[in-house]
Amino acid sequence: MIKICLKSKSLSGKLTKQRKIIHVDMDAFFASVEQRDNPEYRGKPLIVGGKPNSRGVVAACSYEARKFGIYSAMPCSQAYRLCPQAIFVPVRFEAYREASAKIREVFWRYAVQVEPLSLDEAYLDVSYTAAFDGIATKIAQAIKHEIKQETGLIASAGVSYNKFLAKIASDMDKPDGLYVITPKQGAAFVQSLAIEKFYGVGPATAKKMKALGIHTGADLKTWSLSDLQAHFGKSAAYYYNIARGIDERAVKSFRCHVPCGYIPIRSYALFRAIDLLQPMIERHLSPKEDV
Ligand SMILES: [Mg+2]
Repeated sequence: MIKICLKSKSLSGKLTKQRKIIHVDMDAFFASVEQRDNPEYRGKPLIVGGKPNSRGVVAACSYEARKFGIYSAMPCSQAYRLCPQAIFVPVRFEAYREASAKIREVFWRYAVQVEPLSLDEAYLDVSYTAAFDGIATKIAQAIKHEIKQETGLIASAGVSYNKFLAKIASDMDKPDGLYVITPKQGAAFVQSLAIEKFYGVGPATAKKMKALGIHTGADLKTWSLSDLQAHFGKSAAYYYNIARGIDERAVKSFRCHVPCGYIPIRSYALFRAIDLLQPMIERHLSPKEDV
């Protein structure tokens, strides 16, 4: 159960309200939608994306496929070699967008700010949510439950006091996870974390950090801000803070509130593009843009 004190001093010394952030991430989203809609795919290694011997990549795969070492963005030909008996199906974005819209409706019932990262993932700021006495863990449970009821799909949730830790938390207990990192646990939690697990540290940055002897959060914490700046430029402050469990980035909504209701500013076409490009973005973004 997350218990967060109401007031804490931020880095700048101002008295601010302790935030409550939930990161929700659907489990094997595209593959789960396919397994939901096609009972014959259930319990089987399933790959959503290109054809087995095409130049396409794996857009998503079921947990059964992951047991064979298959992961998103892997070339389909490689996936086929690892698991020739896998079922390969093309992407059906209409179905994923429909499920995504339902999931987002659930988010908006509980959060004042919702920041989608892709069709199946979002940060929620529930600092001002009245439901469940504002207890973020209970809110996360309710969100998971309503998503299951309304879409038949399973979500994992991470609960914490900032985006960085909430995102890490959602990945701790997958699938069907609910993991909480309290303000008291945050700084210590980060210490033991491998550097490649840090959100905002892509493969290129992780390689650079390891070459400098930074393998864990504890290693990162020994670096001064100026030393980090010398190597990582503008990203240094972010790394300096996350090594201490601090991340003050706001949850940024893609909606604006107008008298007639909510208007989605970013179209679904953009989310689709993000989903398609995400693996490539993760692999190729320069370290500075990683954050
Ligand atoms: Mg996901």
